[in-house]
Amino acid sequence: MDDKQNMAELLFPHITKTPADYETEYPERKLADGAKVTRFAPSPTGFLHMGSLFAALIGRRTASDSDGVFYLRIEDTDKKREVKNGVSQLVEGLKAFNIDIDEGMVSETESRGAYGPYIQSKRTPIYQSYVKELVKKGLAYPCFMTEDEISIIREKQEHEKKLPGIYGEYAKYRNISYGEAKRRIEAGEEYVVRLHSPGREENRVSFDDSIKGRIEMPENILDVVLLKKDGTPTYHFAHAVDDHLMRTTDVIRGDEWISSAPIHLQLFEVLGFKAPRYAHIAPLQKEDGETGGKRKLSKRKDPEAAVEYYKKAGYPAEAVIEYLLTIANSNYEEWRLANPEAEQSEFEFSLSKMSKAGALFDLAKLNDVSKNYICRLSAEEVYDLAAEWAKEYNEKLYACLTDDEEYAKAVFSIERGNEKPRKDIAKWEDVENYVAYFYEELWDGKLDFADSPSRDDMIEIIETYKERYNENDSAEDWFPHLREMAVELGYAKAPKVYKKNPEEYKGHVGDVAGVIRAAVTGRRNTPDLYEIMQTLGVDEVMRRLNRAVAYLAGDEK
Ligand code: GLU
Repeated sequence: MDDKQNMAELLFPHITKTPADYETEYPERKLADGAKVTRFAPSPTGFLHMGSLFAALIGRRTASDSDGVFYLRIEDTDKKREVKNGVSQLVEGLKAFNIDIDEGMVSETESRGAYGPYIQSKRTPIYQSYVKELVKKGLAYPCFMTEDEISIIREKQEHEKKLPGIYGEYAKYRNISYGEAKRRIEAGEEYVVRLHSPGREENRVSFDDSIKGRIEMPENILDVVLLKKDGTPTYHFAHAVDDHLMRTTDVIRGDEWISSAPIHLQLFEVLGFKAPRYAHIAPLQKEDGETGGKRKLSKRKDPEAAVEYYKKAGYPAEAVIEYLLTIANSNYEEWRLANPEAEQSEFEFSLSKMSKAGALFDLAKLNDVSKNYICRLSAEEVYDLAAEWAKEYNEKLYACLTDDEEYAKAVFSIERGNEKPRKDIAKWEDVENYVAYFYEELWDGKLDFADSPSRDDMIEIIETYKERYNENDSAEDWFPHLREMAVELGYAKAPKVYKKNPEEYKGHVGDVAGVIRAAVTGRRNTPDLYEIMQTLGVDEVMRRLNRAVAYLAGDEK
């Protein structure tokens, strides 16, 4: 055995499987031409960023649109950042937004698919097998430098304005002999395994990023760490091995990784792998109120950066996905207008149409999209989804909704299912306020009357209406009857008529309706008053009219 062979055995005596074995174990996938294999590869840190969900959606769509495979791989090589149940949180996070995976982790410990394990901490022998092979070829070596030695080098490089890192003259153990390595290991010294980078300073690498286009950068010359002191891989190395063995065709990830792409391309090369296509997604942007400019949606500053925020507020998953698609591809909105009823999956998603600089994430726009989504749901669907949300997040509302299901559905039916449904609800959190005056338990009972007509005129209107209200009036007859009453009491039959000769009237029919509306609901703006009164029932309408008169006649104005 030569020195390199000896070195490989010295470092990895326990590794008996070779890369060739793994190549056989994880063969090329049998997929149709053009099928893309993508993945979502988060770390289980207990926090799912909206940007990550966005990346997962892009991965899912890219795979689905090409009849490919989308899988979930957990990157838990950084044990410091890990939290308990971190994997389940990610699995549940994807599920909550209906992003299905074809393969990968399905719970804290279980997975499905033939290319596993799908969690990096269970793949150590695989990584080591590939490193062993690199050592044999002289492309990797053990490095015994201490933290102190490394920081002295870093300071020197900073001072001399040189590229920081371990390379060339700084790579002290690049050519370490088998004998020396053996001595140091036997003496109990700790070491990492580094790449013996074949890169040269004067060379450049380039690749075609599916989002950003052609990218050219200096070749990697760093002897980057492949295996850490505990024998586990760095992100760089694990990514290369995993994406190769899991037969990933398209690596879709955050653009903070672009600067590392030369390292990754070099790793694919020394490992003898075909490099995947890369698609680097720019971070979601947000309008910065303070500066008037844009900045990254930040985990630290913006509560809406956390996916959990949307669950708590009760945005329907479909609406969030719909919104993410509108910011992923700028032509989505136009497509949606032309195809209001179509399934999202019918839209032809394209990586190349994604924003290079970062899509603008805007809650007001999400609210619009979500209102448009919710207004098209049936009362039954709204009831089911709102109750499901309330069960977890609003006990009082849940009790009201479930106490009388038929009544709650009638409330949700108001101005729904017609051509121009109302858009009052953006998220289930809004439901309490929306339905409040239908429930004594939710309503504060406040009555918000306008400034005119006078209180006495209001009382007159309500008293007369108590006599005239006929719950058997049809939707068509209801308003004409109210108009007749208004005219009898000295109000104009229409705002137009009133405006022409205001001195002749006390007001117009709209003012009269406004008084009834405020008396019955407490509010100046509500959905269709006729439907509201039908839903409340005549007894409740009368009770409320009487209460309003008492209020108006009282001193508490
Ligand atoms: N674990 C890496 C991250 O969360 C994954 C990057 C990638 O998708 O390759 O940033």
